[in-house]
Amino acid sequence: MRFNETLKNIKTYEAGKPIELVVREFGIEPERIVKLASNENPYGTPQKAKEAVVKAARRMHLYPDDSMHELKRALSQRFGIEPKELIIGAGSDQVLEFCARAVLNPKTKVLMSRITFAMYEIYAAQQGAKVIKSSCYRHNLDEFYKLYQTHRPDIIHICTPNNPTGDALDRDYLYDFLAKVEEPLVIVDGAYMEYAAFKEPKKAIDPKDLIQKFGNVLYLGTFSKAYGLGGMRVGYGIAQEPIIEQLYKLRPPFNVTTLSLVAAGAALEDEEFVRQSIEKNFAQMDRYVQYALKRGLEFIESYTNFITYILPQQISSKEVAGKLLRRGVIVRDLTGYGLNALRITIGTPEQNDRLFSELDEVLDGY
Ligand SMILES: *Cc1c(COP(=O)(O)O)cnc(C)c1O
Repeated sequence: MRFNETLKNIKTYEAGKPIELVVREFGIEPERIVKLASNENPYGTPQKAKEAVVKAARRMHLYPDDSMHELKRALSQRFGIEPKELIIGAGSDQVLEFCARAVLNPKTKVLMSRITFAMYEIYAAQQGAKVIKSSCYRHNLDEFYKLYQTHRPDIIHICTPNNPTGDALDRDYLYDFLAKVEEPLVIVDGAYMEYAAFKEPKKAIDPKDLIQKFGNVLYLGTFSKAYGLGGMRVGYGIAQEPIIEQLYKLRPPFNVTTLSLVAAGAALEDEEFVRQSIEKNFAQMDRYVQYALKRGLEFIESYTNFITYILPQQISSKEVAGKLLRRGVIVRDLTGYGLNALRITIGTPEQNDRLFSELDEVLDGY
């Protein structure tokens, strides 16, 4: 059998470990397991979304509304854009994939930060495109601009706030950069934008304003994080119509299920749930900052629902993550990103109590 050459350069994406795996491998009771590894909303799902799903279950035997009329209307209203400036995917991941397939081939290049969302590189590799990474581990847009001038990439990825570091760009700084790059498709991934906009208004990127100013930019949003729908797989891209029109050619029919569509629509209406989740997130984030200060751990100021602790060299983050896992606490080790660090999703107060006590015990062993 012969597979595509491009597959040789692709590493399989390693998702955060599911609770079921920890149950199977370590025999820990599911109730004793705390999952702080995938940046889901620890407060669950908006009540309205659950109700909408139960109701829509009656229509499960029918294909979804492929025009996605209702959710498009709701999203367009929310952002003050036109439905034709919007594409909805099975997670924003699917929209990323459309972008890669629409633009990339083995003759093209993609520019991204050295440490950023792993899927950017995987989708680029699937198309055989060359990946250029900045040397700085934050988004240094001055360096990005230099690399842009040298390499003339076809796609530029900007993740703000950035996963897995948690830092976010100031809007003005980003806009100055965008004003200078006209040809490539620039993808601004705002998976955690709701958090950043709450914490620091000058980090807030408004999709409508963004696409009005820049015709080559696509904004990505998701229901998987603040909206509490990680299990439903709904995300969206917002851009001027000529971009959306091209992406539509790559969209498989019925790419978002009926249940996911209604859940996302209902979640959008439950602003109170989202606002409260974000407020609680930052109240709990303070505890993580205090913990880091108390234990002398380095951390990156975060505008998201996770925090990244950089461990001292003599303590391996991989080992610490393994020890926490055996105690039933799942966090994300960033060794694979070239950082001796742990990315920890900010949980509920109880989950965080547990994390702090287990981490204390693990760190005391060094
Ligand atoms: C979680 C995440 C996504 C993807 O979310 P979907 O669940 O596919 O919508 C995209 N970008 C970043 C930076 C993320 O952290």
